[in-house]
Amino acid sequence: MRSYYMAGNWKMHKTVAESVALAKALVAGLGNCKERVMIAPAFTALSAVAEVVKGTNIILGAQNMGPELQGAHTGEISPLMLKDLGVAAVILGHSERRHSYLETDALINKKVLLALAQGLDPILCVGETLEEREAGNLEAVVGAQVKEGLKGVAASELGKVTIAYEPVWAIGTGKTATPEDADAVHAYIRKVLGGMYGDAPAKAMCIQYGGSVKPDNAAELMAKPNIDGALVGGAALKAETFAPIAMFRS
Ligand code: PEP
Repeated sequence: MRSYYMAGNWKMHKTVAESVALAKALVAGLGNCKERVMIAPAFTALSAVAEVVKGTNIILGAQNMGPELQGAHTGEISPLMLKDLGVAAVILGHSERRHSYLETDALINKKVLLALAQGLDPILCVGETLEEREAGNLEAVVGAQVKEGLKGVAASELGKVTIAYEPVWAIGTGKTATPEDADAVHAYIRKVLGGMYGDAPAKAMCIQYGGSVKPDNAAELMAKPNIDGALVGGAALKAETFAPIAMFRS
């Protein structure tokens, strides 16, 4: 039976106390969860949340990281600092980073390589805007983001990488890609991966879907053959909505 990777991106929400409360509620609610679960609080709450999830089945993730190990990079967070706090995974290339902070594929690729070199498991986010989709450029855009994002990643490291397909028009909008549409894009991503690494690694790759995933649509999305988990934003901010998503098979 497949296992799924369910991740919560808390974005720029919650004080330290609020983050600890949510993490405690998730630890209590997800003890029997069959899936791999990750939560990514704000940087300021990582240390406190690390104490809550230590020794549990919940993986601690970060929402981003800087592209260097250390030095004169005001405002950036090094992978060394993340590891120091017990972080094991990192979301890279989220569409908000690409579109609001103009992160390029080259920069995201640098971060993916650095994360892997430092033992952090990256979630590489890809996805098209509505304009790109309507112009018929979905495959070109998503294919290029996958190829550029993974440039230089060795086949032996691929198993540590997760791809999150997040159509930009579905993030935080309440609009979800239909399970069929999402599955078709996931299948295309697998085809691109097959061209880069061969069929077996492409088949084994974990590809999450993200974009207005909610308790009432999670099971239908996860039932699709190419969807291996979810990257959840809004619904990850409450245990009442994230726990049922992570426990969709229970
Ligand atoms: C996200 O930010 O990655 C996301 C998918 O957000 P939401 O679930 O709110 O659409």
